[in-house]
Amino acid sequence: MVILLGAPGAGKGTHAKRLSAILGIPHISTGDIFREEIEKNSDLGLQVKSHVEKGELVPDDLVNEVIRKRLTREDCKGGFILDGYPRTIHQAEALEKILEEFSLPLKKVINLEVSEEEIIRRLSGRRICRNCGAIFHITNMPPKQEGICDYCGGELYQRDDDTPEAIRHRLVVYHKQTEPLLRFYENKGLLVNLNCEVSLEQSVEKMLNILKDVQD
Ligand code: AMP
Repeated sequence: MVILLGAPGAGKGTHAKRLSAILGIPHISTGDIFREEIEKNSDLGLQVKSHVEKGELVPDDLVNEVIRKRLTREDCKGGFILDGYPRTIHQAEALEKILEEFSLPLKKVINLEVSEEEIIRRLSGRRICRNCGAIFHITNMPPKQEGICDYCGGELYQRDDDTPEAIRHRLVVYHKQTEPLLRFYENKGLLVNLNCEVSLEQSVEKMLNILKDVQD
């Protein structure tokens, strides 16, 4: 199992979706789970809505519980890709306990490195399919038809937290609460830094090589 770390907009979701399709293991994104629950107006959705909209982190205990439940599902037995979790040291420690309990070894933590300037460009042009969650960008990865998903024909939308104000706040939160995880995983010998300011094909290829080394 592998964790993709990196600032918002670094490309965790885009890479995780590609890796998931190639490796045949699930892509687990806490952000996607929360957006689905908000859309459904479920109890969980109502609990997390205001945090997500403001670009604040959802409380650790709640996120840990959601992940714990997700990782007990059958499809996680053969490995999985975590995107957007853990985001705090407390979450990383909780994850260690969960993985130990289920005897799931953490193979690698890949840190997607992208400059802050590029992150802002990626986030402000990002569009998501309301139906299947596919990720596009108005100039880097435009859909064939404006506003329509190439894969399922769903409507593309801009996330509420991809506004300039929320983006700025999410980056502050990232530096303060998530960046310390780099040292945490480096100390465990699990961290690999990967320059992701290259084409998607190139960075996916490099990730596959990193993961291949682990499997050998
Ligand atoms: P993402 O799609 O990963 O950018 O996540 C969108 C939003 O969901 C974040 O800005 C947080 O409000 C919330 N969120 C997602 N994952 C976590 C997490 N591991 N811990 C706390 N909040 C999270």
